[in-house]
Amino acid sequence: MPVQIDLISRRRFALWQVKESDFFIVHIDNDLEPSETRDQLIAKLDSLHREICDVLAFPDVGNPESLLKLNVWLYADTVLEQAGLITEATPKQFYGAASPAGVHIALHGLDWDSALVIDCIIHEDIHAVLGKNVGEAPSLLNEGIAAYCERMLSRDGSGRLNELREGWMSIHVSEKSGWLRRACQTEEFWQAYNANLPMYEVGGYLVRYIIETQGLDVLKQIFLSSHYMDDSLADKLEQLFGVKLEHIEQQLAA
Ligand SMILES: [Zn+2]
Repeated sequence: MPVQIDLISRRRFALWQVKESDFFIVHIDNDLEPSETRDQLIAKLDSLHREICDVLAFPDVGNPESLLKLNVWLYADTVLEQAGLITEATPKQFYGAASPAGVHIALHGLDWDSALVIDCIIHEDIHAVLGKNVGEAPSLLNEGIAAYCERMLSRDGSGRLNELREGWMSIHVSEKSGWLRRACQTEEFWQAYNANLPMYEVGGYLVRYIIETQGLDVLKQIFLSSHYMDDSLADKLEQLFGVKLEHIEQQLAA
């Protein structure tokens, strides 16, 4: 798993300034200095969220009044310092996560509206929107759809979509056949991720293939019928495509 930081106690004990928008309740840690780039980011959140709901084809955006708003938590950088994440080697740090409590962001040494931060917020908001509407799937698909849509919406243009194929190819040449079957297991996905394999990109490339060949609704059905530790994802995908996953490994590398 990626680094976990104790945000719960911070949420409980810090003081928060609250700003509401159409889709969000934004909680700003009182220890944060006023910042223009942060105000700009907050002003952008609703339109980013509309784009995300558009790309994921959720009608979320129709009527803001009927919605349960999403919490966004902007933490002071002390949470990164306390977790030992800010060192001389990494003077800049970004942390983003999504959970039932909302979207969590902490950063140090970066502007709140920099492309990296915006891409990460898009990524976490995608998790939040999916979680709310279709639940979770094994990480290969959770991270895959976030990695794919994040690049679709990227401020840096569509060039970032190539990273998905590059990730797939690099694993395909370095790993033994059967790697995709293993990546379907959430624990194995994170083991490979921790070994620095480009697992998000691999998931993103697979998600792109599912959407292009089967459609977004079919992908949502997989989410609806699945969960985080579901160990039948490989079977579900083989049923869907009518071929073995080892065949898909080859096919997408062609
Ligand atoms: Zn993620």
